[in-house]
Amino acid sequence: MTRASHNVPEALATRIIHAGSPPFVDGTAPVNVPVERTSTVRHASTAALHAVHARRKAGENIASYGRHGSQTHRALEDALLALEGGVRAFLVPSGLSAISLTFLALLSPGDHVIVTDSIYAPVRRLDALLLQRLGIEVSYVEPNDGRLEAAIRPHTRLIFTESPGSLLYEICDLEAIARVARRHDIVLATDNTWASGILFRPLEAGADVSVLAATKYVAGHSDVMLGAVIARTEAVATRIAAAHDVLGLTIGPDDAYLALRGVRTLPVRMAQHQRNATRVAQWLQAQPGVGQVFYPALPDDPGHALWKRDFSGANGLVSFVLKDADQYAAERVADALRLFAIGASWGGYESLVTVVAPERLSDHAQWNRSGAVLRLHVGLEDADDLIADLEQALQHARVAELHAIGG
Ligand SMILES: *Cc1c(COP(=O)(O)O)cnc(C)c1O
Repeated sequence: MTRASHNVPEALATRIIHAGSPPFVDGTAPVNVPVERTSTVRHASTAALHAVHARRKAGENIASYGRHGSQTHRALEDALLALEGGVRAFLVPSGLSAISLTFLALLSPGDHVIVTDSIYAPVRRLDALLLQRLGIEVSYVEPNDGRLEAAIRPHTRLIFTESPGSLLYEICDLEAIARVARRHDIVLATDNTWASGILFRPLEAGADVSVLAATKYVAGHSDVMLGAVIARTEAVATRIAAAHDVLGLTIGPDDAYLALRGVRTLPVRMAQHQRNATRVAQWLQAQPGVGQVFYPALPDDPGHALWKRDFSGANGLVSFVLKDADQYAAERVADALRLFAIGASWGGYESLVTVVAPERLSDHAQWNRSGAVLRLHVGLEDADDLIADLEQALQHARVAELHAIGG
């Protein structure tokens, strides 16, 4: 006997624990989905093979070959659908390949795409190195005061946003952008890596596609590269499925398993990242050598009102301006930190620091060029220890500066 199913609506934290659980076979089931490693699929007969092909052709997400993934992949897809909503999730080898897949699936030569100006920097490389060659034109806009709608042309087919941005956390009014997109019959896709499905659900706000670097908070342990594209409607899913198939995009079951293992604890990790990051951000605001602190949960952050309207929380990313400092001084602070490792990426359990290259900010309309910027990923260490580390690093940089002035 199976236990009675019920229709009680469940909170996200509950659904993320149970999504993709393996089914009972002969009355028992493991808690975790097996890591099913296979490069191909055996069929009991040619008739069975034809039946699977027919089901695939009809749009069903069923594997007739290893590239289509296994039960491990299906379980992760289910977990991502629980997070983001939507009808279909596509797994790809990295967050960047999730972005590239979205562009290649939805655009053709002669098409125009609008991208928000605080976009993840490698998107501009995708534009320069591939999209231009394919005859696809990109416009970058500051999205929040009618400029986006003014940039629409007859052949605009896609609006691609990222909200918040991943350096200064500029927030888009996604509901307003979705209304504009719908009015002009344009597909709206958004990079939801900052919120990772847990702090914001863009498909509910009207986006057609949500893109995730699952490398970051979804996997959460800095041990896997992974991306996902989640489609809100069958119409968009069909277009993405075709490109996903012919581009041969697939991921290994071990990586799928690691992401699934990570996603179970996403809500508790995120809550702790927010607690630690809030303490660090508030402490930074009180330091004389620190200028603006960027963290949407701070009441004086430029994006705070929109963040409060749309997001259920914040993550571990905090950026700050080192007052009257150049790149060299910022690098001295990074070098002096002991608990914050110097490195790109974020979303793992550990703290990281990056000195943001000025050319990465020069295209952001909201950047006022007031000093050097450091980006912290505040990890799950004890917040007092992280603050003590920042204190000694800022002090160290100050002492080095005084020595330099003194000759
Ligand atoms: C890291 C990141 C990506 C790319 O993800 P990878 O898995 O590193 O390729 C895409 N978008 C955002 C916002 C990111 O932070």
